[in-house]
Amino acid sequence: MALVEIDKAYKHYGSLVVLNGLSLEIKEHQVVCLIGPSGCGKSTLLRCINRLETIQKGEIRLHGDRITGPGVDLDVLRREIGIVFQGYNLFPHMSVIENITLGPLKVLGMGKAEARDKGMALLSRIGLSHKAEEFPDRLSGGQQQRVAIVRALMMDPALLLLDEITSALDPELVSEVLDIVRDLAAKGMTMVLATHEMGFAREVADKVCFLQEGVVYEEGPPSRIFGDPQGERTKAFLKRII
Ligand code: ADP
Ligand code: MG
Repeated sequence: MALVEIDKAYKHYGSLVVLNGLSLEIKEHQVVCLIGPSGCGKSTLLRCINRLETIQKGEIRLHGDRITGPGVDLDVLRREIGIVFQGYNLFPHMSVIENITLGPLKVLGMGKAEARDKGMALLSRIGLSHKAEEFPDRLSGGQQQRVAIVRALMMDPALLLLDEITSALDPELVSEVLDIVRDLAAKGMTMVLATHEMGFAREVADKVCFLQEGVVYEEGPPSRIFGDPQGERTKAFLKRII
């Protein structure tokens, strides 16, 4: 069974149709990359998956259970589905360790010592345990994004959504963030990435989805999407950006 099934999702803002009956399956341990021109709906799709936005028609299921529509416990859902954005992820008035233990303490009811131990273990995995007591503004953008990923991982999510997490970074900081994503992929984390990093998508994705006019216009393994795209729109998009 797929971990996530997006079944004819429809989302509009006023007269602007962003998702127009979009369907997509994400299997467990899969890394799915969403590509497409700015404004094609990548962020909207991710935000609909963890219910920061609501779809108006269709259905999204996680482990076969409907997570759209009424009666869904959003706290439970967001424990299962972590999301990291382009920037401004951390609370500026809290230290790194406070930022990453907040969720486990408040939402999971984890004890303080356990949360701290878990936080420190994850920070050392990304080489940032020495920054535990620092405030976010003392960290580079790349370090902040790595901490933001750790914060999401603290909840042991079944799925991680990453929305252009390297777009706001100076070029020399991009690779340290992508290294973590690569490491998570190798450990079997299921992820959906909206990304402009085509080289990275090609390397890390199991499936690449090109979004166009509110649907997945073309999808497939990266070797085919990048090496032998079939659709005219896919070809035109890739020609423009590569
Ligand atoms: P992408 O992430 O692929 O660049 P988005 O999902 O951010 O695209 O946006 C898709 C379209 O929806 C864009 O035209 C954008 O302007 C519009 N949009 C996104 N969020 C909102 C919103 N909250 N209100 C109105 N329009 C929005
Ligand atoms: Mg976006």
